[in-house]
Amino acid sequence: MINRLCIIGVGLIGGSLSRALREKGFCRHVIGCGRDERHLQRARQLGVINEYSTDPANAVQGADMIVVSVPLRAMQSVFEQIDPHVPVDAVLTDVGSAKACVETAARKTLSGSLDRFVPGHPIAGTENSGVEASFAELYQGHKVILTPLEENTRETIGRVKAMWEATGANVQQMTAAHHDEVLAETSHLPHVLAFALVDTLSHMGDSDEVFQYAAGGFRDFTRIASSDPVMWRDICMENRDAILKILDRYMSDLENLREVISKSDLEMLQKIFSRAKDARDKYTQKYSS
Ligand code: NAP
Repeated sequence: MINRLCIIGVGLIGGSLSRALREKGFCRHVIGCGRDERHLQRARQLGVINEYSTDPANAVQGADMIVVSVPLRAMQSVFEQIDPHVPVDAVLTDVGSAKACVETAARKTLSGSLDRFVPGHPIAGTENSGVEASFAELYQGHKVILTPLEENTRETIGRVKAMWEATGANVQQMTAAHHDEVLAETSHLPHVLAFALVDTLSHMGDSDEVFQYAAGGFRDFTRIASSDPVMWRDICMENRDAILKILDRYMSDLENLREVISKSDLEMLQKIFSRAKDARDKYTQKYSS
């Protein structure tokens, strides 16, 4: 049970966490923090938070759990602002989509509370942003990956784990480096591809016509290209090496596919598509929740 939860960045991810914990009765009081007071007022109107402050140093006062839920490139500055003010019994975590960069930022800035900072990443989201898009069920049945620091105690990790489990999430642990490779492959690459495809089509001469006839397949494939460009810019910069590695591999496979199509190699084309269909059918059945 959390007494006073401080969420810095009350958007889709931070707002949904607060909603879920309040709905489950897992926290007594929530203070939200952000830069724009209008967003925070809206969050209070929606019942997502009880009170707010635009000053991170002030917001963390008296908190026993602090969740930093701002874009990746804003993490370090938030850590710097809160470090001298984190209560001695408070646990901190974050929700950033890449983990090695957050760990580096925390090591540079969290002098007094590094051992109580447990990095995390909920593997849940939508293409929408802001507190209006938040909802209590976002984490239900989804995974949350924690990438604990060697300085973390079992008790500290346990407090962050319990918070996420209260939202209905399934919590797992791995190293930051492994997290960043896996997420580059399963999340970051698909977002890059969706943005790239829509961008290519949108600056073709007849783009209006292309989009007019776009049907279900196009919508399914490109939904995530409606995600926040700033967030995805940050993710690409902060997980650059792992993204480049899988992008190179994908480009090479795509070159190969192009060759197969240009040669009208029906057998190979069918083989590649069948292999992909089998793999997808198998994994959607196995990991359907
Ligand atoms: P979001 O809806 O845009 O929310 C971000 C919040 O952070 C906003 O409320 C914004 O409010 C605040 N903010 C931005 N810069 C700030 C700063 N410098 N100091 C304090 N507050 C600041 O974004 P989100 O989707 O919740 O993403 C937040 C984090 O979750 C990111 O690190 C992202 O990598 C991670 N994440 C996202 C998803 C997803 O699918 N969206 C999934 C998993 C993890 P103000 O503008 O009022 O400051």
